[in-house]
Amino acid sequence: MKRIAVLTSGGDAPGMNAAIRAVVRAANFHHIEVYGVSRGYCGLIEGDLQMLSRRSVSDTIQRGGTILKTARSVEFTTYEGRKKAAEVLSERGIDGLVVIGGDGSLRGANDLWKEFGVKTVGVPGTIDNDLGYTDRTIGFDTAVNTALSAINNLRDTMSSHDRVVIVQVMGRHSGEIALHAGLAGGAEVILVPEKSVDLDDVASILNRGKAVGKTSGIVVLAEGAMPLDEVMSELKERTGLSFRSTVLGYIQRGGSPSMEDRVLASRLGVRAVELLKDNKGGRVVGVKGGEVIDLPISEALAIAPRFDEVLYEQAKMLSL
Ligand code: ADP
Repeated sequence: MKRIAVLTSGGDAPGMNAAIRAVVRAANFHHIEVYGVSRGYCGLIEGDLQMLSRRSVSDTIQRGGTILKTARSVEFTTYEGRKKAAEVLSERGIDGLVVIGGDGSLRGANDLWKEFGVKTVGVPGTIDNDLGYTDRTIGFDTAVNTALSAINNLRDTMSSHDRVVIVQVMGRHSGEIALHAGLAGGAEVILVPEKSVDLDDVASILNRGKAVGKTSGIVVLAEGAMPLDEVMSELKERTGLSFRSTVLGYIQRGGSPSMEDRVLASRLGVRAVELLKDNKGGRVVGVKGGEVIDLPISEALAIAPRFDEVLYEQAKMLSL
């Protein structure tokens, strides 16, 4: 393989730049040219590609977001749209494509491979950590640490004022950020979409805390678990405690990637290029038990997202 392209797609995640950098430099090391595609599949369909040199990715490993920009493309979800994308690649003599993104982006990469034989390799880039085939996705560690740092700050002020704070973190379908930030932040309660929420139960945990002299507390709520207003008003009524709420929102998406995310992104980017160098396509890279793995995209996406029940129970055990 002599020429490949790389794009970032879907929601951005800290560490995407470290992955792009790894792809560019590993490819150059193997004498493969790299083109950067702007704005994900949108830019691919429009032919918005530029050659990247080793130097074009200098000074990027520490930056959040993505230098290639990212987007969602409705056109790409149609066969005609994907055909255009495949044609752009073949017109430019590009034989392989690295797609850095979440579940949807990797599905798109699989379609390009199945329908047009484009040699695609998917790299998991999403703060949600919601891909079952890999222990970690790029961006998760940074997002959790950002949420954790906010929880630490909130704990200081809540304890000064004897208040309970409900912190809403990202995760419409996944409780991974809530679980990890909640456990690490010593939250009294963690609410996740994978588990049904019983507010009587939550109130009794907070009331038990009150009975033993706890006057402040942290409830970490994944956005998909239950609407924040509902949790707040119901708990107020059932506990008589003083509540405040904070929505962390997009703060969790940005920021300089952690060491974990930079190293993960670098390792996965290198493996993605090695697969293309060996003329392989239709695969994803990930990490299992500390080892970098690769497998067919269709197989990987058939694995349901994990939820760590043991960790969830341990967090509960340690919370009061
Ligand atoms: P993420 O990759 O973060 O999960 P999205 O689900 O929004 O984000 O997907 C990003 C883009 O990937 C979409 O805008 C669309 O162009 C493409 N995509 C998503 N799902 C599919 C699919 N099932 N088949 C083909 N392309 C898809």
